[in-house]
Amino acid sequence: MEKIKPKVAFFDISCCEGCQLQLLNIEDTLLDILDQVEIVNFREIASENGQDYDVAFLEGSVTNEHDAQRVLEIREKAKILVAYGACATIGGINGVKNTRPLDEVRREVYGDLASCFETGPNRSIDQVVPVDYYVNGCPIYPPELLKVFTRILRGLPYSVPDYAVCVECKLRENVCLYEKGQVCLGPITRAGCNAWCPSWGNTCYGCRGILTNPAEQGQLDVFKRYGVSDAVIFDKMTLYYKCQKEGARGR
Ligand code: SF4
Ligand code: SF4
Ligand code: SF4
Repeated sequence: MEKIKPKVAFFDISCCEGCQLQLLNIEDTLLDILDQVEIVNFREIASENGQDYDVAFLEGSVTNEHDAQRVLEIREKAKILVAYGACATIGGINGVKNTRPLDEVRREVYGDLASCFETGPNRSIDQVVPVDYYVNGCPIYPPELLKVFTRILRGLPYSVPDYAVCVECKLRENVCLYEKGQVCLGPITRAGCNAWCPSWGNTCYGCRGILTNPAEQGQLDVFKRYGVSDAVIFDKMTLYYKCQKEGARGR
């Protein structure tokens, strides 16, 4: 008897679609995944536009009422909803607009046409509807996506690690980037990416979101110890950290 495959759909709202591209970058494993599911909607690789699905991967954050309406519709149809990528899980880079008055942001982006464009506070998906699974990161980390996919297929839950990137970084025996004069947010950022950036010599900029109980004072002490200026701290913290503090929850 032919195995019944779950129907999977990929959707996006306000985002750059980079997380969907990440899936296409793992073409070897992608074939194994495709063997176990039926992709019914994924506009970056297929022309089908099926609206009957079991699992919906939703990329992007909610930045206006149109986004919110789409999220509600997708949630209503999907048995399982996956927040896919930092925009969806924690509000992502779009959250920068939460740090300034919306009218000011609209004027700066659209100039004289500002009044023609609707915009609202940036929200993560779970600030609008309940979410069943989270795949964090900007972009998502492919090995974690495969882990989540496997859990979904087996009907098991997945919890995003709630310990610091530094833990994974130490397990990989990397020399701390602070010792090389760089500034890294690993101490307060959720792990799960196997210290992806520091392992390639790049600092962690916090894309997987803040720990539930971040050691903020510890991070400030590290900044002080290595003489990091206020301007650099502001720059680093604004990208994801401050936005998340002021808006999206994330997991
Ligand atoms: S999380 Fe990053 S890569 Fe993914 S859609 Fe948002 S901005 Fe793009
Ligand atoms: S490089 Fe970053 S993640 Fe690695 S130990 Fe240092 S602060 Fe932590
Ligand atoms: S190291 Fe930091 S910035 Fe890089 S993927 Fe992991 S959480 Fe994101």
